[in-house]
Amino acid sequence: MQEAGLEVSRDEAGNLFGRRGAACVWSGSHLDTVPNGGRFDGALGVVVAIEAAGRLRDTELGVVAFRAEETGPMGSRRLAELPDAFVEVHIEQGPVLELLGEPLGIVTGIAGQVRGTVTFEGRAAHAGTTPIDERADALIEAAKFVLHVRESARDGGLATVGALEVVPGATNVVPERVTVSVDVRAPTADGLEKLIEAIGFEPTWRQDPIGMSGPPLEALRAVLPGAPELVSGAGHDAMVLAAAGVPTAMLFVRSLNGGASHSPNELSSAEDIALAVDVLTEALALVEANRLSALPEHERP
Ligand SMILES: [Zn+2]
Repeated sequence: MQEAGLEVSRDEAGNLFGRRGAACVWSGSHLDTVPNGGRFDGALGVVVAIEAAGRLRDTELGVVAFRAEETGPMGSRRLAELPDAFVEVHIEQGPVLELLGEPLGIVTGIAGQVRGTVTFEGRAAHAGTTPIDERADALIEAAKFVLHVRESARDGGLATVGALEVVPGATNVVPERVTVSVDVRAPTADGLEKLIEAIGFEPTWRQDPIGMSGPPLEALRAVLPGAPELVSGAGHDAMVLAAAGVPTAMLFVRSLNGGASHSPNELSSAEDIALAVDVLTEALALVEANRLSALPEHERP
């Protein structure tokens, strides 16, 4: 950040800020990652932002390296108080851009998400002495539900069972009780409700879908006309800023290796990353130029 000509500071939460001047327009991402994660998730967005800032020496802007995105984006809540605009570059963490043969994509929103559990009750019994027809096997009912969850996902929505708790969980006992996790995501609130209804469960945790908007999104579209537009199924720092009312946009960089992420197989090419630096540089310059030209003359620097 210092080499890019930014004034560096750190807050008590450990977030790192690099600023030039008034810094109303910001870019950046997170530096923490998951255990056994890859090198690109988060870190790429910080490096690309610093590179862009280094090219825009005459532009007042800020770069942030958040901490603790993966455990709940606390840093991004702090930044929401500072910027007029935020642009986050991030790896796609999925295979869509690779399948399309496109290096970059513009994120138009972040999918809504709900989570909950469903419990199936049966009757524990001896695996060697209880005839099949006499059993009340909770896992058989849970297995039908897992298939039902998968079949319910449509219209861009996703539904996943990722964890089962089988009680008593012994090889020689017919399962008495099974608790099934459900994770449902959809680009729109309406789509989310339809999926919850189709699956038939009560969510215990919910995050509404969030749209990207305003000058940052317009700038990305202007710099990258015709680029594919995607809804992110994963949460990001940008989501917190957008939810706090900051005009926010995201640029996805193609993830190679089938979209591998949260794994050491995460990979994006040097060519794609270089393109992302070009696009971010132009977009930040455009957002700041438009912001300045909208100010009354006596407030311009
Ligand atoms: Zn990330």
